[in-house]
Amino acid sequence: MMDMHCHLDLYTNPQYVVKRCQDENLYVLSVTTTPKAWYGTSLLAKDCPRIRTALGLHPQLAHERWQELELFDALLNQTRYVGEIGLDGGKEFKAHWEIQLKVFRHILRSSAKAGGKILSIHSIMSVNAVLDELSQVHDNLPILHWFSGTRQQLKQAIEMGCYFSIGPAMLSSKKGYELAQLMPIEKILIETDGPFGNIKTQALFPWNANIAIAILADMWGMNILKVENILRQNLFSLTSKHI
Ligand code: MN
Repeated sequence: MMDMHCHLDLYTNPQYVVKRCQDENLYVLSVTTTPKAWYGTSLLAKDCPRIRTALGLHPQLAHERWQELELFDALLNQTRYVGEIGLDGGKEFKAHWEIQLKVFRHILRSSAKAGGKILSIHSIMSVNAVLDELSQVHDNLPILHWFSGTRQQLKQAIEMGCYFSIGPAMLSSKKGYELAQLMPIEKILIETDGPFGNIKTQALFPWNANIAIAILADMWGMNILKVENILRQNLFSLTSKHI
């Protein structure tokens, strides 16, 4: 029914994935990792009103692609969705922390100035810094994608009104499952992070977000239809918010 964070342009056969998303009436947030990828990726979904393409600059690419911020700003009025953005404090990317911060701050401010955007945010090993930056720039609607922080950080994110997109890969770990149990039901959306998100090394496709629905049905003690209604309601309440 929905996949609120996937990389359509990075599948081996994006046209096939888009066609099946369309056939299955899925709501999809197609995120991009560089501003240069936005236009081509948005064309993939040009006839699909339920597929929205987010303009992004991935924190793991910030040090290589920061020059594309100018293009980011030029494209920003063409979409209401921004992602994948954020910060990555993992040891591979910590060396580029300063440029990551510059890029993330720039994007938050540009997005707010453009009237406020719906953001899909990466926060691996960086939740405190991400929340700190978000608290300094209002007027955007943040979705924390694949949240992997602590309970205390989660509590803070909830207090700030963040949404959470969670998927089969996250829910299959004990820690991810337990965090999901603490999230407010009305702030939950589902995602796959495909083709990076995987289960037993098999890349996930947008329609595999259904696996998360089954897990949530069990977690919440509800049937699948009820969970789908809640998720749909969450998505509509997010997208109908005036920023
Ligand atoms: Mn991603």
